[in-house]
Amino acid sequence: MPLLVMKFGGTSVADLDRIKNAAEKVKREVERGYDVIVIVSAMSGKTNELVGWVEQTSPLYDAREYDAVVASGENVTAGLMALTLQEMDVPARSWQGWQVPIQTTSAHASARFVDIPRGNIDQKFAEGMKVAVVAGFQGVSPEGRITTLGRGGSDTTAVAFAAAFGAERCDIYTDVDGIYTTDPRITAKARKLEKIAFEEMLELASLGAKVLQTRSVELAMRYKVRLRVLSSFEDSDANSGTLVCDEEEIMESKVVSGVAYSRDEAKMTLVSVEDRPGIAAAIFSPLAEAGVNVDMIVQNISEKNYEGHSVAVTDMTFSCPINQVARARKAMEDAKAAGEINFDELVEDTEVAKVSVVGIGMRSHAGVAAKMFDALSVEGINIKVISTSEIKISVLIDRKYMELAVQALHDAFELDTAA
Ligand code: ASP
Ligand code: MG
Repeated sequence: MPLLVMKFGGTSVADLDRIKNAAEKVKREVERGYDVIVIVSAMSGKTNELVGWVEQTSPLYDAREYDAVVASGENVTAGLMALTLQEMDVPARSWQGWQVPIQTTSAHASARFVDIPRGNIDQKFAEGMKVAVVAGFQGVSPEGRITTLGRGGSDTTAVAFAAAFGAERCDIYTDVDGIYTTDPRITAKARKLEKIAFEEMLELASLGAKVLQTRSVELAMRYKVRLRVLSSFEDSDANSGTLVCDEEEIMESKVVSGVAYSRDEAKMTLVSVEDRPGIAAAIFSPLAEAGVNVDMIVQNISEKNYEGHSVAVTDMTFSCPINQVARARKAMEDAKAAGEINFDELVEDTEVAKVSVVGIGMRSHAGVAAKMFDALSVEGINIKVISTSEIKISVLIDRKYMELAVQALHDAFELDTAA
């Protein structure tokens, strides 16, 4: 029997009517001849409520009990989904993580999969069951305790099941109808992509993060699981939504596939740092220890006249999320006080945003950076920091120009029309 994995997110199972709507989509696939594994999230808002209850009860909670409580949201949906399917005469039953058993590490609240044995579920399919409904986001540790995978983890459960059971596809039903060339709230010209490569999806995290947990995309890329993102609120057919797939499946694509942005960035510059071997390590180790997620890094070498002779100094600039600026500043001031680094001044710019163009086509096409910088210059937007990877070019600019930059780049790379 061909097998499909269908995952329904919180808004798709928010109440009994929506569960019924989702169950109808499952039934349709069963009628098409598929065995189906359904992965469900908690009803929308439920996980937040459960987390709140835990925090109110015990501020420094035992992570094992946190997981025991927070995993329960998915259990409710799984049982209700199985009942709804049974009411529609579809042979179905539910599984909680430990019943499969979905084996994970013991890292509570951020557990990783170790193994998903197929035996229990395969046996029921062999006995005529058509749909296995599995609670997403959870598993069981080697110690026999309930674990959860981190927020948004049901996506990763879905991909892991698709890989373990060799599913033809993994359909992620959500409240948006696919992945767009950019955020449709920023430009009405944003276009839904038919297909996008795994690597591009990972880079477009700021467009996709709310849709797919990053780990699910990493896992899909590793096991080449074809992943489709589509809306549970629309009628769907085989071509609905966006397929996230191997680049070999994408016959024709543009050099740039999408424009991503990140609004809440900050730029910090250490002015006149002594230029010597080990200085970068002396700066970035304390930042890492302080939990600062450094993104872009730029180093400029210059000369400084010091008591009559010239010495080599460097300005070290880095970017990080705006809510980590205070932590970063403290780490740098502490390192300076401890004599580990030396700088004249720490300059902060908290009015910046990052805008990126992403596309696997960049690997084989020159001139993407030039075109990007030109489009920004035509709009009079100054670039503060640039960084590149094989398939992405990012710039830091003044936040007030972010929307304009996204629109200009979307136009320059003609993303409103298909390849
Ligand atoms: N219910 C969990 C959460 O909100 C897991 C998920 O829905 O993916 O994070
Ligand atoms: Mg989600």
